Amino acid sequence: MNAEIIAVGSELLLGQITNTNARFVSGHLAELGINVYYHTAVGDNPERLEQAIQIAEGRADLIIFSGGLGPTKDDLTKETIARHLGTTLEKDEHAMNSIEAYFERVKRPMTENNKKQAMVLKGSEVLVNDNGMAPGMFYMHEGRVYILLPGPPHEIEPMFQFEAKPKLIRMLNKENVIISHVLRFYGIGEAALEDLLDSILEKQTNPTIAPLASADEVTLRITAKTDTTEQAWQLINEAKREILEVVGQYLYGYDDDSLASRAVDLLKQENKTISAAESLTAGLFQSELASVSGASAVLSGGVIVYNEETKISQLGIAAELLDSHGVVSEETAIAMADAVRKKFGTDYGIGLTGAAGPDAHGGEPAGTVWIGIASESGSEAYRLQLSGMRNTNRIRAVKLALHYLIRTLTP
Ligand code: ATP
Repeated sequence: MNAEIIAVGSELLLGQITNTNARFVSGHLAELGINVYYHTAVGDNPERLEQAIQIAEGRADLIIFSGGLGPTKDDLTKETIARHLGTTLEKDEHAMNSIEAYFERVKRPMTENNKKQAMVLKGSEVLVNDNGMAPGMFYMHEGRVYILLPGPPHEIEPMFQFEAKPKLIRMLNKENVIISHVLRFYGIGEAALEDLLDSILEKQTNPTIAPLASADEVTLRITAKTDTTEQAWQLINEAKREILEVVGQYLYGYDDDSLASRAVDLLKQENKTISAAESLTAGLFQSELASVSGASAVLSGGVIVYNEETKISQLGIAAELLDSHGVVSEETAIAMADAVRKKFGTDYGIGLTGAAGPDAHGGEPAGTVWIGIASESGSEAYRLQLSGMRNTNRIRAVKLALHYLIRTLTP
């Protein structure tokens, strides 16, 4: 199955918003082994939208639309598709009831144009919108599938994942079982990883192995297509074994894991707690850990000690240590990690100090970062020399701190 995603909205063409919907939907289609060959963005204009549909029909059998399902005049996706396919729109009672219930709830009068949102393509399967008013649609016509989804990311994402994707899986499963498994690596670049796996990547057919670099990490998506789930997992596990023999030391997690979720899981498994003293990252490390649900079981708290005075007053670090070694140093990172661990009575303590940039700091060039990790068995520090912009360096420092923490926690 070949797919094309048509994002509708003049804001996309004016540079006011980024087409994150296409990225989101593409990611899920890749998981299903559906090829996406084109992303199209088109303004709120019926003629140009119709042209885009005609072009897409010439090269795709699955066409997914995002946006233009709202109540206003410039929302014209379903009207244009209905006209193009020679069908009509009809009222969906369920959608109408939820729109009415919404206005009842917020105690606002419902305007006439809101009723337009309950109109769907005649003969389509309706995709429920739990986060907004416009229902989505799954429509089959002359061997092609048309999926209409709303524009706002908080509406399209759950609708695609929980309403449209299961329908696609059911359709595909009539022919095949398609299973994907993601391996997540950190501490190695995409090029280096591909280089090491060259011979494995070269011979891949089924399962396919697709590398992807994003936000400082590299993932490999292994996708197998077979007749049974068991066979698919067998193919995936064989490929996985081969891959991990070569680059297993860089693996940190699978599928929906993140560095933070992996660190939280490992701490939970060991029944350990953690605290952090943050200078250049000013709370980002703790925030990243706290983004994982259930982090309170392991994260006790921490301090932001952004200048020398607070490092001394909040953590009791000796002024002489800061003077003699510098504020961006191995000794300071370790002293911060040790002190915060003691202050919060946790099993692990993290100390982050560095020169985020663009200027040098504490006598060290921009991008120098020290990460201290303290535990019952002693303290260690890691030096980084980052080359990004200020905030990229701060985020990278957090990711690398999580990376070293995971390494410390993994036997
Ligand atoms: P609404 O009922 O809110 O009008 P809609 O389905 O008509 O929803 P649009 O009006 O096209 O959707 O877009 C609504 C908002 O959704 C946009 O202002 C934008 O913030 C976001 N949005 C639309 N398309 C995209 C896209 N392709 N990627 C990311 N965000 C988008």
